[in-house]
Amino acid sequence: MSYVDEILERVIAQNPAQPEFHQAVKEVLESLRVVIEADEDKYRKEALLERLTTPERVILFRVPWVDDKGQVQVNNGYRVQFNSAIGPYKGGLRFHPSVNLGIIKFLGFEQVFKNSLTSLPIGGGKGGSDFDPKGKSDREVMAFCQSFMTELCKHIGADTDVPAGDIGVGGREIGFLFGQYKRIRGLYEGVLTGKGLTYGGSLARTEATGYGLVYITQELLKDKGMDLAGKTVCVSGAGNVAIYAIQKAQQLGAKVVTCSDSTGWVYDPEGIDLDALKEIKEVNRARLTEYKKYRPNSEYHEGRGVWQIKCDIALPCATQNELFIEDAKQLVANGCIAVCEGANMPTTLDATKYLQDNGVFFIPGKASNAGGVATSALEMSQNSERLSWTFEEVDQKLQGIMTNIYKNINAAAKRYGKENDYVTGANIAGFEKVLEAMLAQGVC
Ligand code: NDP
Repeated sequence: MSYVDEILERVIAQNPAQPEFHQAVKEVLESLRVVIEADEDKYRKEALLERLTTPERVILFRVPWVDDKGQVQVNNGYRVQFNSAIGPYKGGLRFHPSVNLGIIKFLGFEQVFKNSLTSLPIGGGKGGSDFDPKGKSDREVMAFCQSFMTELCKHIGADTDVPAGDIGVGGREIGFLFGQYKRIRGLYEGVLTGKGLTYGGSLARTEATGYGLVYITQELLKDKGMDLAGKTVCVSGAGNVAIYAIQKAQQLGAKVVTCSDSTGWVYDPEGIDLDALKEIKEVNRARLTEYKKYRPNSEYHEGRGVWQIKCDIALPCATQNELFIEDAKQLVANGCIAVCEGANMPTTLDATKYLQDNGVFFIPGKASNAGGVATSALEMSQNSERLSWTFEEVDQKLQGIMTNIYKNINAAAKRYGKENDYVTGANIAGFEKVLEAMLAQGVC
């Protein structure tokens, strides 16, 4: 049996009931097959793939807190420190009821390659909890965050592991987490990114993932002799990534006609009204049902359905596994040119294959949403030098990073005879640097 197949079997056997983790490992190892099989004996002897697919450390902890009725609640806390070959662990915290160890491991594994692609010195990690901030009072969210950090602070630090936000963890949560870290550890350091601007945050971090997604999409189109201006775009999600992807796409002259949340989706043929969307989601923390009040000509539908709408570009920005094979078929039938992932692994493996087989350019999240973590790394740099850069400075660096990522994944795909296969390109380009660093550091 080939080394890659052996490891795929081993990962499934050793990590039962973690389908998202299996899916992520399969996607990566399948595209690394060409690299591994070129020097299989050496990598097997080094147990390289065993090391690559086993987290350096998994931390599981209890998070007890008291709700507004005086009832004690208990949630599960996780931090997976996956790989520190190229720098301190870096990756977000997700607070969502669906969170479990398999999901955090899939996200941590993906993060290793994504962080490598940014060309900045950051290793990969991820964490979170099954706590649901939705419907909780600010006091309850603070109580939860303080309890979560009371344990997590023993395992993180500005030079060891620097978490950030993800689904359910925005500026409010990062503030509560930072306050508790400082209080317990007595250190005012860049231990978290996504901080508020008054206490060490970076300008443009809020916008970075969505903006970066659109920058790389524009770079892809440019490379193919096209432009984003005048294109129709479908976006899913209505959170941080979706909102700023919509904003940048609109600024570059595209028309964005959809967005969605966990209960339904909006089709606005005249183009999404971003101010309305921001007020609903960022200010009122309300449902998308509200959107019709602002735009009577738009449509609201329960459930999922964004990918039925005809578009040139699709940007899935909600969550994992939200673009299925039926959606891929619909997108192809509607003449979609490109799918670039804003979320982590929103497209299922069979949908990805269908898109690629039918000539749709597909950029995987580990490349196309890397602008968020890249700007987090820029926040770390600013914290280290105790300086703040201007919005334009950070935005310009972000654009440079996204352009480079596109060039690197494109070149890696070509090098292995897989032109236009950006999944393979991203996995190989991300892997090469981690591989070299791991081999240089010996057995660890
Ligand atoms: P937010 O919590 O701000 O927004 C998530 C959006 O997706 C919300 O609109 C939410 O709906 C919707 N959503 C969440 N879960 C589901 C679900 N199970 N089914 C349908 N819709 C769902 O998160 P972000 O925008 O920060 O993150 C979105 C994705 O991007 C995630 O995959 C994340 O890992 C990834 N990402 C984020 C980065 C960042 O910098 N924020 C960086 C890189 C990747 P509702 O409003 O109802 O909650």
